[in-house]
Amino acid sequence: MARTVLVTGGNRGIGLAIAQAFAKQGDRVAVTYRSGEAPEGFFGVRCDVTEADSVDAAFAAVEAELGPVEVLVANAGITDDTLIMRMSDEQFTRVVETNLTGSFRVAKRASTKMLRARWGRMIFISSVVGLYGGAGQVNYAASKAGLVGVARSITRELGSRNITANVVAPGFIDTDMTAALPEERRTEYRKAIPAGRFAEPEEVAAVVTWLASDAAGYISGAVIPVDGGLGMGH
Ligand code: NDP
Repeated sequence: MARTVLVTGGNRGIGLAIAQAFAKQGDRVAVTYRSGEAPEGFFGVRCDVTEADSVDAAFAAVEAELGPVEVLVANAGITDDTLIMRMSDEQFTRVVETNLTGSFRVAKRASTKMLRARWGRMIFISSVVGLYGGAGQVNYAASKAGLVGVARSITRELGSRNITANVVAPGFIDTDMTAALPEERRTEYRKAIPAGRFAEPEEVAAVVTWLASDAAGYISGAVIPVDGGLGMGH
């Protein structure tokens, strides 16, 4: 059965791969983009997840065009790495505001319609770093660990209404975000990953579409790693 799917930050990287995977299976897919253009072939809405009004307007536009959002993928995220003694309050807050509070905003906005429909899927894109930690990533790790609490609380609040909330925790995926890392750090990370390689965004997308499927209806509050074994023991 075709569903209405909204992917935040769906104009590039992991978000775009997720949007393409849902479209391929016949769902109605909307993506949000903050800068640039919406990717071709998708219903695109401009949205900055740090602004509640922008989130509300984006949902209203999607609802008018494709119907209420049944599957929400909270993917938009940023990094701003530096060691803790150099990290400004602004650097900490900006990353948490985008990755954690932004995800809360979209989940809150989606929840009313999901409750009314008595069906919904929320998938939060966290990171291996959320539970593993990352030097220079106090802000990012805090924001990504926070998503676990969000998904598990939503599971307790809305679980009886056929609404699931899960976390996907990717390891190192080849996107603009990891391309920005210095080559020596990329080599170091590659050595630490049991699979011995970074992953393609499509490998994350496959897990997300499965979590949204009817087959995964009894899975909620889970943290599913897609990290080549890097974070084993979470
Ligand atoms: P990219 O940097 O390639 O893309 C990030 C996306 O988020 C872009 O679409 C960007 O929009 C959007 N975005 C950023 N800030 C905002 C905002 N305030 N409002 C709305 N949209 C925003 O990242 P990836 O594809 O690599 O990452 C996607 C998600 O996966 C992120 O949450 C990231 O933390 C997570 N992740 C990535 C990993 C990796 O190895 N790449 C590993 C683990 C987790 P715009 O194009 O306008 O900037």
